[in-house]
Parts: sequence; structure tokens; C-alpha cells
Amino acid sequence: MRLKQGHVWVYRSDITSAEAIAPGSLVTVTDQRGKPFGTAFSSSSSQIAIRMLSRQPVSDLHALIRERIAAAVAYRETVVRDTDAYRLIFSEADLLPGLIVDRYNDILSLQVLTQAFDANLIREAVISELSRQTDPTAIVERVDPRVRELETLPPRPSALLQGTKTSTTFTMNAVHFHYDALEGQKTGAFLDQRENYAAASQYAHGDALDVFSYQGGFALHLAKICGQVTGVDSSRPALEVADQNAALNKLEIEWIEANAFDLLKDYASSNRQYDTIVLDPPAFAKTKRDLDSALRGYKELNLRALKMLRPGGILVTCSCSYHVDQTSFLEMLGSAALDTHRSVRLVEVRGQAKDHPVLLNIPETAYLKCVIAAVN
Ligand code: SAH
Repeated sequence: MRLKQGHVWVYRSDITSAEAIAPGSLVTVTDQRGKPFGTAFSSSSSQIAIRMLSRQPVSDLHALIRERIAAAVAYRETVVRDTDAYRLIFSEADLLPGLIVDRYNDILSLQVLTQAFDANLIREAVISELSRQTDPTAIVERVDPRVRELETLPPRPSALLQGTKTSTTFTMNAVHFHYDALEGQKTGAFLDQRENYAAASQYAHGDALDVFSYQGGFALHLAKICGQVTGVDSSRPALEVADQNAALNKLEIEWIEANAFDLLKDYASSNRQYDTIVLDPPAFAKTKRDLDSALRGYKELNLRALKMLRPGGILVTCSCSYHVDQTSFLEMLGSAALDTHRSVRLVEVRGQAKDHPVLLNIPETAYLKCVIAAVN
């Protein structure tokens, strides 16, 4: 059983018997012989039927939530530096499975992923504890309609839960960003890349191309040290914010709205050359079944980028697909290097920022790969 290996999920297909319960309730989990395993949140619809909360019986759920939030806050105080934007609560990795909370300066953005955290009493406990322990100006809930559908929860719009403010600016690694709590992808930014922006800045130089640039995460960092910087994304709203971010930092960056695959193909065939290229595409493998096509997609992008790098160039290449593990990602990159006859040195093999903790024995908590390579 996965639980015995330290995991916290039980799939519906692994449940041998269950009593009828309300969706999202707290349940006691036992092994086949009836020995208690602990207390969990249940879901009536997700394939992940059980998410363990504690090895002990839970008599006071509010107190448990208070302690877990306090522990998450304390952990961030030890691992987070140089930023007022970071993930405060990362679901399973903070022992609050189904809850995500990101801090953007004085605004908290909350995401509920399960029936349990959507229940009124639990929502209220979470909001009151977040408010008491972190004193934000506002708390906003970001809703992913697909998640609510999977959990058979009624639709609900993203909305302010507390306070009146929905926009602010935040700063990471001394780079400033506009933040609108009710707009943008994810909860607004890709906070998991924060430490990778700083790492990339150590090696980046010359002419730089940031492909899949969104609101400019990498490009803004690179523009502080590189010559020419170009950011490419297919989303116009993302590039509009990117441009405002460049102005906020008094940086000059060229933004191009394009399909990255087409643009890289054109640029590579017309022999454009760069000293630094960043590739940070969206997750190509949403499920295990997509793995082969995802690896082909990554390879196409990396091949073209390798072709366009001048000798001594830096490639920063990322994948946020959990299903593409580090080994397959490095193999893909190795194969792209072979095909382009480039010799590639691994400078750093990195993951997600430390405010997105990886929990040992829960492989799903490690999803981001960011390889920084020097290309000869
Ligand atoms: N590097 C960014 C995050 C990138 S997220 C950061 O650090 O903030 C992936 C981005 O890819 C999104 O902004 C999305 O709009 C964009 N995107 C998705 N498909 C694309 C395509 N085919 N061509 C160009 N951009 C694409």
C-alpha cells in the first residue's frame, strides 16, 4: 500500500470497503485488518479518494489547521530570501493536502483543490488563521473551473474573500512586478521559478531570448545583465503586463507575440544567433499518456535553441511536467545535443524554489526541472 511507503494518497480503486459519508468529510483510514492508519480528507469524485491528514485521530480540526499554517509560515521564514512573493502553503508538501496559498506582497491568493477545503467550516478556519497569522491587506480566491468540475463542486467565480484590494506590486531578486489578483495564469505568477531566475542571472550574457516569457519572469532578470533581450509568448495579455513590468524596472525589452514553435523554426533557419536562450514552456505532459509526444515537443524546442546559441552560450531549459522526470528530461537534452553536434556542459540541474517544498516519498511534489547548460 502506498501509505506504508509514506505517501498520503489512496486511489479509489485501492479502497476495499467504505462507509457512506458526506463528500469531503474527515474519515478514519484503516488497513485491511482494521488497524487504524490515521485521519484523512475524502473526496467523493476524485480518483484520489483519500488524502491523509494525520497519523492520529483528529479531534480539533481548526487547531490542526492553525498548527499546520503556523508551521508553513515558519518554514518560509527559514528558506525564503530576497522576495515578498512566495508560496506560503503548498498542499501535500505542507501537510494541508488540497490547499494552495501564495503571497504577493500584501495580498494572499488562495486556491482550493478539494471538496474538503471547500467546505464552509474549513474555508472559514483557513481564512481566519491566514488572516490572524499573516495579516494580509486582502485575501483573494483563485478558482480553477476544471478542478471544481473534477471535485463535483458547484462553479464559483474567483473573488475577493477579505479586504478590498486586488492589485499590488511585488519584488523578487530586486526585480519588480505588477500583480493583479484576479488576472493572469496560475495564481498570477510562476513563483516556483524565483530561485532559477537568480541562478540564470549568474551565467546569462550577451543577446538573450526568453521563450515562453509570460509576464517576463526570466526576461526582466536577464535585461539587468544582458545586452539585447527579447521575450516571446503567444499570450497578448501576458505580454502587456510584461511590458508594464519592463517599464516599472526601467528596462528595455522587445516583446514578440508568436507561437514559439513557429518562431524558433523561422529564427533557426534564418541563422539567428544568441548568447543566452531560456525555454520555459507550459506542461506538455498533463498525463502519463502524453509522455512521448511531450518529449518530442521538448526536443524540438531544445534542438532549435541549441542551434542558435553561439559558442559559450547559455541554455536555460525547463519542464514543469511532473510526468517528465529529470532522467528523461536530461536524456532528451542529450539527444538534442547529439543531433546538433554541440557539446553541452551541465552547469546546474535545478528544481523548484524552496517555498514549493518537495516531500520525500511523495514524488508528485517534485515537478519542476530547470537545467542551466553551457554550450560549445
Ligand atoms: N517563463 C514564465 C512562465 C512561462 S509559462 C515565467 O517565468 O513567468 C508558459 C507560457 O507559455 C505562458 O505564458 C503561455 O502563454 C505560453 N505559451 C503556451 N503555448 C505557447 C506557444 N505555443 N507559443 C508561445 N507561448 C506559448
